[in-house]
Amino acid sequence: MKIVIVGGGTAGWISALIASARHPKHNITVIESSKIGIVGVGEGTTALFTGILINVATNFGCDQNEFIKETGATLKYAIKHKGWTNNIDDYYIGPLDGTTTSKYVPDIMFNYGLDKLSRQDMLKLSRCGHWSYHGSSNFNKHTKQFMHINHAYHIDAHLTGQYFKKICLQRQNIKHIDSEVLDVSLNEQGFIKDLGLSNGQTVDGDLFVDCSGFNRVIMKHLPSKWVSYKDNLPLNTGMPFHLKYKQDEVPEPYTTAWAQKAGWMWQTPLMDRKGCGYVYCDAYTTPDKAQEEIETILGQEIDPIKTIKFDPGRQESTWIKNCVTIGLSSAFFEPLEALSIHSTIVQANTLFFEYVKPTINNTINEGNIAIYNKRTRKLYEDLKDFLVMHYMGGREDSEFWKYIKTGVTKTEFVKELLEMAKTNIPTINDFPQYQGSAGWPLYSYVMEGINVINKDIAGAELDAVCDEGILYEIAQQSYYENNKQWDQELLHEFTYKEFIEYFRELRLEI
Ligand SMILES: Cc1cc2nc3c(=O)[nH]c(=O)nc-3n(C[C@H](O)[C@H](O)[C@H](O)COP(=O)(O)OP(=O)(O)OC[C@H]3O[C@@H](n4cnc5c(N)ncnc54)[C@H](O)[C@@H]3O)c2cc1C
Repeated sequence: MKIVIVGGGTAGWISALIASARHPKHNITVIESSKIGIVGVGEGTTALFTGILINVATNFGCDQNEFIKETGATLKYAIKHKGWTNNIDDYYIGPLDGTTTSKYVPDIMFNYGLDKLSRQDMLKLSRCGHWSYHGSSNFNKHTKQFMHINHAYHIDAHLTGQYFKKICLQRQNIKHIDSEVLDVSLNEQGFIKDLGLSNGQTVDGDLFVDCSGFNRVIMKHLPSKWVSYKDNLPLNTGMPFHLKYKQDEVPEPYTTAWAQKAGWMWQTPLMDRKGCGYVYCDAYTTPDKAQEEIETILGQEIDPIKTIKFDPGRQESTWIKNCVTIGLSSAFFEPLEALSIHSTIVQANTLFFEYVKPTINNTINEGNIAIYNKRTRKLYEDLKDFLVMHYMGGREDSEFWKYIKTGVTKTEFVKELLEMAKTNIPTINDFPQYQGSAGWPLYSYVMEGINVINKDIAGAELDAVCDEGILYEIAQQSYYENNKQWDQELLHEFTYKEFIEYFRELRLEI
């Protein structure tokens, strides 16, 4: 089978890597235009990204140490959310992995923590939280390898794309063309036949994967419909900029999502600089005012790289005929919780591991396509709910936040969860669970952080489901035992600062 991928951004190269590793007998062509370039703003990832680097599902040929050295990526254990409630100096840190008993009903560690621990100490209910709390890393100082794999990354998308490109071009079944797609021809049944390129070439194929970002080069020729999420997630403009580290400033082991008057600012600590930006709703501010607001809050001038406009939403169908969209071309809401590259990987894994078959006839099966589309729709609908929940902390100090406070952006599920949380602590089974879903481990820290969980109920719930408070005691004991063990491990791990210094030194060799 001939698979043609248009796009050489993170989505294009990740798709090519997964397709090639999973289907060594299929021929893959990646077409990208170096003249057009990619989106790259200093991105955070989720742990799914690490799964590729450690070759979790199949041997992709990546190596984490090499990746960090070549791209200047850093480790990410959590997201610090600042200013998402009416107390704008307040913050909470949501670790990437949830508590060690997230899957219990009820989540005994979380309930115990909610009842008895400070917000700061609640971080130590989770492995990633423990590293964040201690400013440590999971990089073993003796073996110079990673001790655990729960972490995610902060990346430079440009360098990350180059890294995956290098790995891809070592594979026998991937061909690369640097040229612009100018024409897309369809056959009488509406299937993509071939692509006409600016270098005069015509490239035919059986299956076309559109990873061309906001250009949606192939999909725009098919009867696809864009489903806008702007009623629930009104942010529609990104203003990326870079910040240099101050002398002696140590990068933080988490991304910062700092709520502002018309949206929020991301700060993604990379090895050599911070990738930052303000993502806002243009009904409530202008580019000039947005810049001024950020300069005031940071106390320094910034130099915005560009203004990126987007309509938050997704394709109604991410697979039509013989064309599948992956990456920004298929969906994008806003960068909160780093869900874009995350869903790119979910889609690419789902497509190439489950739906691309040995032959094109088996692949282009209407049931196959319909079920794939159902799964991606569900993923994006669920992730939308998760993002909407972040805004429910009751902030009301600007027109934007007053608008959110009216409740009009709430989805049905968010309304139900907020209602439930008035008297109960949600549990894992209240949330959809499948590859890529957000789920209770992530919702729990967000709902606690924006103060919509009723803390008084947590301890009572544990006592109520077990006589003599046994669950409560088990949770308390596990908390102390986990932390005893994790504290021991700190002795063999680099601090976060040492991890940064080690790789900065290695990067000098490049
Ligand atoms: C403001 C902002 C912040 C973000 N923050 C995060 C984050 O923290 N975490 C996260 O996971 N994601 C984040 N994202 C999304 C993330 O940047 C993308 O998911 C990721 O970079 C992948 O993009 P892509 O490969 O789909 O598209 P792009 O990077 O745009 O790549 C598109 C590719 O298509 C090629 N192309 C386009 N048109 C043609 C043509 N006619 N012919 C040939 N080639 C063509 C281009 O050359 C390029 O190679 C953010 C996005 C924005 C806008």
